[in-house]
Amino acid sequence: MSRATRPYALTPDTGRRHALRAAVSTLFLSVVPAGFARAAAAASVVAVRVWPAQAYTRVTIESTTPLTFKQFVLKNPDRLVVDLEGVDLNDELQKLAGKVGSDDPYIQQLRAGLNKPGTVRLVLDLKTEVRPQVFTLVPVAEYKNRLVIDLYPAVQKDPLLAFLDGQTAPDGALDSQLKLDTNTSAASQPAQQTAPPDRSPNDDVMAQADTKPIDRSKLKVDRLITVVLDPGHGGEDPGATGPAGNHEKDVVLSIARKLKARLESDPNIRVVMTRDADFFVPLGVRVKKARAVQGDLFMSIHADAFIRPDANGSSVFVLSDKGATSTAAKWLAQTQNDADLIGGVKITNTQDKYLAHTLMDLTQTATLNDSMRFGRAMLTELGGLNRLHKGAVEQAGFAVLKAPDIPSILVETAFISNPQEEQRLISEDYQDKMADTLHTGIKKYFSKNPPLSRTKLAQS
Ligand SMILES: [Zn+2]
Repeated sequence: MSRATRPYALTPDTGRRHALRAAVSTLFLSVVPAGFARAAAAASVVAVRVWPAQAYTRVTIESTTPLTFKQFVLKNPDRLVVDLEGVDLNDELQKLAGKVGSDDPYIQQLRAGLNKPGTVRLVLDLKTEVRPQVFTLVPVAEYKNRLVIDLYPAVQKDPLLAFLDGQTAPDGALDSQLKLDTNTSAASQPAQQTAPPDRSPNDDVMAQADTKPIDRSKLKVDRLITVVLDPGHGGEDPGATGPAGNHEKDVVLSIARKLKARLESDPNIRVVMTRDADFFVPLGVRVKKARAVQGDLFMSIHADAFIRPDANGSSVFVLSDKGATSTAAKWLAQTQNDADLIGGVKITNTQDKYLAHTLMDLTQTATLNDSMRFGRAMLTELGGLNRLHKGAVEQAGFAVLKAPDIPSILVETAFISNPQEEQRLISEDYQDKMADTLHTGIKKYFSKNPPLSRTKLAQS
């Protein structure tokens, strides 16, 4: 995540280098015969990237001007053909074939060739039937125009992802996955023994959260608790980049994996990661995943950035329904919510209802109270490891914290833009300490706020 200007420094001199190369080739072409002149106006590909993941494989082609394209699929064997119009088959574009790994879940191989003058044909030989999404993105942050080819499996194997896709999960696998929760929560014992009193927003408002907490400490938890960890950014969206070139997306994934291992040493806790590899997950999908697994807690993990390199410390944020608690928090939420623009999401007309609504209902007010308790518990622990950037939990309109029924916080572990904190963030030792700290924060929150019974959720 980044504050003030966008420090999404991808490769700082790449843009300049490509601009220089473009200028040189234009100069060169201006003195060659007229027949070649048309090529000077062609879109020039400046970068190609492939992001393989089980959820989907993404191919990105970045160019100086918008690419126009046509696509079609062929069967027996499965192929996707994308014709790029008005573009040269330059060195960069020719690198694309070599960027597809043999372990790519969806692409067997990729071929690029000149189909006819001015049209480059990409042929993607596929390992399985896919649902392709091909779309363009306008320039944002450090990126120029992008053409994105997303390959989703036609038949989703992962029951959770199938559920999110609106597909029926094979073999009722999701049912059993979710029943795991409801069985352990309700079936073994009468629900009344585990269910705390109904939470009423009226006696549980924000202002009273500290003075009048519901004493849930005596309530025994006898079901599997699901903690959703959300490593920020990923794939096309590197997040913030430190002065030594380390990306936020890599640091936070590493910390999340360490935290997952610690949490799962408790047999009563399972951890679901919104991403467990280097690929981009839209903010709305992160929230949907958390809700699909009926998460008891949601924690988004980030590493902060600011234009001033001396900015440092850890911070904790929760959602706000009535404006941000500070200008910095507001700005931070805005830049964070830009992740979908940078990561690249196909624009559709159907807005996600949970992200679109602005008025919070009573459920969400109660959830927000729990988020504040969770945030305070975490801030206390973080204060024992690192200087706190701010001594209180801050609030702003973070899209990724909008699950209406799951206590959610966003942790800025430290400032990756600070040279000292960047070095700590990439060290194994500090990542271990950070994971220990976050683990303790979660345990302390649960010890005072046992999760609610799932009975009502299961029946709804
Ligand atoms: Zn971030």
